[in-house]
Amino acid sequence: MVEQSPLRPETQVVQQGRPEREPGGAIIGGISVSTTFRAGGEYIYGRSDNDTWKDLEAVLGALEEGQALVFSSGMAAISATFDLIPPGGVVVAPTAGYLNTFVQLRKLEANNRLRIRWVDINENQQVIAALDGAAMLFFESPVNPLLTVADVSTLIREAKARGVLVAVDNTFATPLRQQPLKLGADVVVHSLTKALSGHSDVVLGAAITDSPELLEKLMSYRKDSGANAGPFEAWLALRGLRTFPIRFAQAENSTKILVERLHNHPAVERVRYPGFGFMVSIEVKGGARAADKACNASKIISYATSLGGVESLWERRRRHDDEPLEVPENLIRISVGIEHVEDLWNDMDQALTRSQS
Ligand SMILES: *Cc1c(COP(=O)(O)O)cnc(C)c1O
Repeated sequence: MVEQSPLRPETQVVQQGRPEREPGGAIIGGISVSTTFRAGGEYIYGRSDNDTWKDLEAVLGALEEGQALVFSSGMAAISATFDLIPPGGVVVAPTAGYLNTFVQLRKLEANNRLRIRWVDINENQQVIAALDGAAMLFFESPVNPLLTVADVSTLIREAKARGVLVAVDNTFATPLRQQPLKLGADVVVHSLTKALSGHSDVVLGAAITDSPELLEKLMSYRKDSGANAGPFEAWLALRGLRTFPIRFAQAENSTKILVERLHNHPAVERVRYPGFGFMVSIEVKGGARAADKACNASKIISYATSLGGVESLWERRRRHDDEPLEVPENLIRISVGIEHVEDLWNDMDQALTRSQS
């Protein structure tokens, strides 16, 4: 394995997590399926250790510049992170963001496991005022699905100055556009289900930290709760991750072109784009009905949830009953894939035009 070095991410994703470089050695690591190991060695049982996880973790760790742990899903990694909060401790969390994160927080609060101080993550003063005595600040940026951008470095700095643990869900920004650990955060979580795996064929998550103490706690949560990944899923994610930077570059480039054109589309009232990445949200004229109509009229883009895959997806977010009411009825969240941008534009244009009739 290659030592951590200032290699660029495009090289890290290809180089890390490979078998030893030795004559006759394989270039690609195997899928390690054994659930048990002969006594007397380092490995004991398949819930705690797996070589395929380790290969994937080497790449993720290099991208975020920390030690990565693979979990069975993004939500499992997030649950492990919430478990770092001491019993009854306070978590400062935003009112907007990935839905299940907040569903899970509310459940934990209902069970008296922790207490939540809700904040608007885009209001620094509000967040800072809530930090005193808190155990953890947890947030994501850009924020799903409104795609606002938090003042990430200030929030991390202010939280750390007050001894508050900081965890950031970096799924939308990806380590190519934001590295929260380098800004001082303690834990980064990812849904690998999204852009890092990138093929919409695996549900998986990761938590990454540069603290040995937190790593130990997260690892023990994974083992004891059984939130461990399947080796086949880990291998698929690793395979997908090898091409992540080129997929990201293509998707981001197309997104910027589409954003410019969407601004001038007569069916579009508002475009929400953080200025980077492959996610864009639009509000269409004609309310929920027109938004649904547009989503159903596309022939290349699929009307489906999720994001970060090679295929473009869009959806009217408020079709989900529990989506926060601050998300407009006519908002379509778009995940731009790697298809040719002109084909995407033609499809979007015709679908949006048809939505108005
Ligand atoms: C999808 C997603 C999650 C949850 O990940 P799963 O792999 O579906 O459990 C968490 N946060 C964000 C921002 C996501 O997009």
